[in-house]
Amino acid sequence: MVLGDSIKTIKGIGDKTAAAMSKLGIYTVSDLLMYYPRTYISYEDPVDIENLQTGMRQSVRVMINSRVEVRKVRGLTISIVYAKDFSGTIKLMWFNCPFLRNFFHIGQEFVFSGEVSYKSGMMTMTQPEYYTPDKYSELTNVWQPVYTVTPGITSKTIQKAARNALPAASGLVDYLPEDVLSEYGIMDLPEAVASIHFPADEYHLKLAVKRIAFDEFYGFISDMHRLKSDFAGYRNECVISCDEEVRRFIEKLSFTLTNAQMNAVRDMLEDMSSDHVMNRLIQGDVGSGKTIVAAVGLFAAAVSGWQGVIMAPTEVLAVQHYKELHAQFEPYGISVGLLTGSMTVKEKRLMYQDIKNGDVSVIVGTHALIQDKVEYNRLGLVVTDEQHRFGVKQREKLTEKGGHPHTLVMSATPIPRTLAIIMYGDLDISVIDELPAGRIPIKNCVVDESYRKTAQSFIMKEVSKGHQVYIVCPMVEASEVLDDVANVTEYTEELRETLRSQYGGDIQVTCLHGKMKADEKNAILDDFSNGSISILVSTTVIEVGINNPNATVMMVENAERFGLAQLHQLRGRVGRGKLQSYCIFVSGKKDKDTMERLEVLEKSNDGFYIAGEDLKMRGPGDFFGIRQSGEVMFKIGDIYNHADMLKAAQKIYEDHGAEIDRTIEEKGIYNRYFQPVL
Ligand code: ADP
Ligand code: MG
Repeated sequence: MVLGDSIKTIKGIGDKTAAAMSKLGIYTVSDLLMYYPRTYISYEDPVDIENLQTGMRQSVRVMINSRVEVRKVRGLTISIVYAKDFSGTIKLMWFNCPFLRNFFHIGQEFVFSGEVSYKSGMMTMTQPEYYTPDKYSELTNVWQPVYTVTPGITSKTIQKAARNALPAASGLVDYLPEDVLSEYGIMDLPEAVASIHFPADEYHLKLAVKRIAFDEFYGFISDMHRLKSDFAGYRNECVISCDEEVRRFIEKLSFTLTNAQMNAVRDMLEDMSSDHVMNRLIQGDVGSGKTIVAAVGLFAAAVSGWQGVIMAPTEVLAVQHYKELHAQFEPYGISVGLLTGSMTVKEKRLMYQDIKNGDVSVIVGTHALIQDKVEYNRLGLVVTDEQHRFGVKQREKLTEKGGHPHTLVMSATPIPRTLAIIMYGDLDISVIDELPAGRIPIKNCVVDESYRKTAQSFIMKEVSKGHQVYIVCPMVEASEVLDDVANVTEYTEELRETLRSQYGGDIQVTCLHGKMKADEKNAILDDFSNGSISILVSTTVIEVGINNPNATVMMVENAERFGLAQLHQLRGRVGRGKLQSYCIFVSGKKDKDTMERLEVLEKSNDGFYIAGEDLKMRGPGDFFGIRQSGEVMFKIGDIYNHADMLKAAQKIYEDHGAEIDRTIEEKGIYNRYFQPVL
């Protein structure tokens, strides 16, 4: 078995498992080794039922004392069994595991391990793992990897396969010279890959994670430099200069641009009319008003006879931008087109034609914009929104579509300037460090679950004023994707019921989650923006860029499961208009550390400050921790947490880049570290 072999060469993997793994993008031994754990658990000694704590991952050693009850609810099969120890009884439930019906029998002893909650008057574990007491004692106090799964495969299966594939890791050839490894204290590649799956201890895991983070950064930086040298020396062939029209466009807006926005606009217009090609990052906190800056750029391009595109990471966001730009540009006779993955083949074909013929001047879309089929007419400006969601390659692909169009990328990631220069060394940066006038600061509170009732009555008060509300539920840990859907659906129904029984009337509570079809999502978001939905319960799909100035409350359930930066992004969904807005962070845990971490959000509305504080408070055990920056182009690397590796990658690229390129070439190193994820 070598790295490039099919996973079917690994002991124990048959066609069925292989098919399930392919859904996770795992086809070869090397794919599997690079499929890193999502987290680790170390199993601790079981506790008595009476000592269980909600919100914690714990284990109990109990005796089954009921038959397995199997129910069907909305297409989900729910299996429930009860078990007891001397101190109490616990309810155990699983989704879509009907085979458990004949698995547990009264009187048998098992250890169950999972997250504890308190539901309808009883301690409950949802989707717990189960072990015989003997098997369990083998597992205690060893770090176990936990993998992201998909229906048809469990984390345990992946773990076993990874263990069997481990010998192949020795075939990985390190591209870093040995003296560099030792100079920077970087773990060598085969060891890092082995340790990231099966760490001997915390110390080794930390080194392994750092190494993998390094590889991701190094790959990114070398791609970045390649992109830069592709750009270097291009003369500006798309001269965009129409200051007078732009001035009038800005004047006619329903609001006045802030000074920071004006500066960004000026930087951009200067670039586009100069003799070099623009390559600029607009960085500004959530709600600072980046979209309008892009709109001005697209307007200027269109007026000067060039096509402009804006690429958004999600379909929902693309549709929102499309509507906004369409409304803004229509009076000027500038036609705006939309291109997304979920459009029908026919719709797409028509749009390709319009794009090719130049019948649309501004095109808004998702990844669909970079498909080979899309041919632009006179591409002059490429804007990427929420740029951190895209890899370098995707951006590169879009810019390759034209001659040498200008590029503008927009990001809310609060990234310190020193890191920004490493990551986007080739970009010019405009910072929007000012919020539009008239924004009332958001009022925040961090509470525990006992406050939920009060929160609900507060929400109802806002709803009765005609305002709208977001409620965000986290992804369910350590479970199948399905549970998230079940979780948020169940939550929505319970809330609807509670509100109906307590406040009467018909309050529109609607649920939104990532597994919905794009059309369905869009319809719901439409209803939310036109006000026919009052309360939108969702998973984090709404995190990116949604804009509804009439929403005044953001309530986040189990806020402790989110990174502060992510909570800050979520908070950015409210306070976008002239209304006083509120954020309620409900913590499922009450311990001091958790509360202190969340309280940072009460103290500040400043993304930079929050990111910094989050980092300081992180414990040494948080390897992946809660991802700080929301950067998804790295699987493991976190520009804050692994800032030392980011700096090392930059330095090593400068000092040894040429030598490393040669090594890769000569040794024909095959691995994917050289491609940023996504
Ligand atoms: P983000 O920077 O998070 O992408 P948006 O561009 O979506 O923010 O802008 C947030 C909201 O603020 C939008 O409703 C937008 O119309 C509004 N807005 C932007 N600039 C201003 C301004 N100068 N004055 C008032 N409202 C503004
Ligand atoms: Mg935005």
